[in-house]
Amino acid sequence: MRYGLISDIHGNLEAFDQVLSDLDKLKVDAILCLGDVVGYGPDPNECVALVQKHADVCLIGNHDEASLGRVDLELFNYMAREAIEWTMRQLNKESKDYLLDRPYTHAFEECLMVHASPDEPRRWNYILSLDDAAHSFAAFEQHVCFIGHSHTPWVIDLNPEGRMQVRQDYPITLQDGHRYLINVGSVGQPRDRNPAAAFGVFDAEKKEYILKRSPYGFAKTQKKIRATGLPSFLADRLATGQ
Ligand code: ZN
Repeated sequence: MRYGLISDIHGNLEAFDQVLSDLDKLKVDAILCLGDVVGYGPDPNECVALVQKHADVCLIGNHDEASLGRVDLELFNYMAREAIEWTMRQLNKESKDYLLDRPYTHAFEECLMVHASPDEPRRWNYILSLDDAAHSFAAFEQHVCFIGHSHTPWVIDLNPEGRMQVRQDYPITLQDGHRYLINVGSVGQPRDRNPAAAFGVFDAEKKEYILKRSPYGFAKTQKKIRATGLPSFLADRLATGQ
């Protein structure tokens, strides 16, 4: 099986359309979404409908949960909060029903999926250091854990001696005895200074993971964000990928 792994679409329909079309060309067998389908972007309902149609599994993310009124908005910065409040007003019943039903984790093959971190899947912690990564490795048993949340793609390779190495030398062959924490990056709001939409492809037979990038027409998304009256930084950042 070959899996397309997507995360943090954030209501960006143009980026998501491009990624779906690229996943189609790559002929993956299943699409797995790590959450944050909405928040920030101007097309939340359209993105939820597309996820519902194309993804075999979709987790809940912190922005999805907040847009359902289940997370204290004080936990978000001003711009994220503005966007969540706007998204709350836009979400239709079908989108809400779909998001309400999403799980926090999902296991498949020798892998686990979680939006933020495997140690506390409902707490939305960020993995920002190798110390954080060590906590995460202790919290799951599988060979690989796929995450999103920080919008920055990387692979942390834990070797049998317990040493960790951050890798970006894609494609990466996943070795037996090693364990991996893989951030697949963000479809709709990349923050690694590359504006192209990010996603991953995992080949379970070949044990190979590759990060893919899909350049898309973000000018259209920016125009829509500005038309909603949301903070203009949310439009600006799509051009710089940060
Ligand atoms: Zn996100």
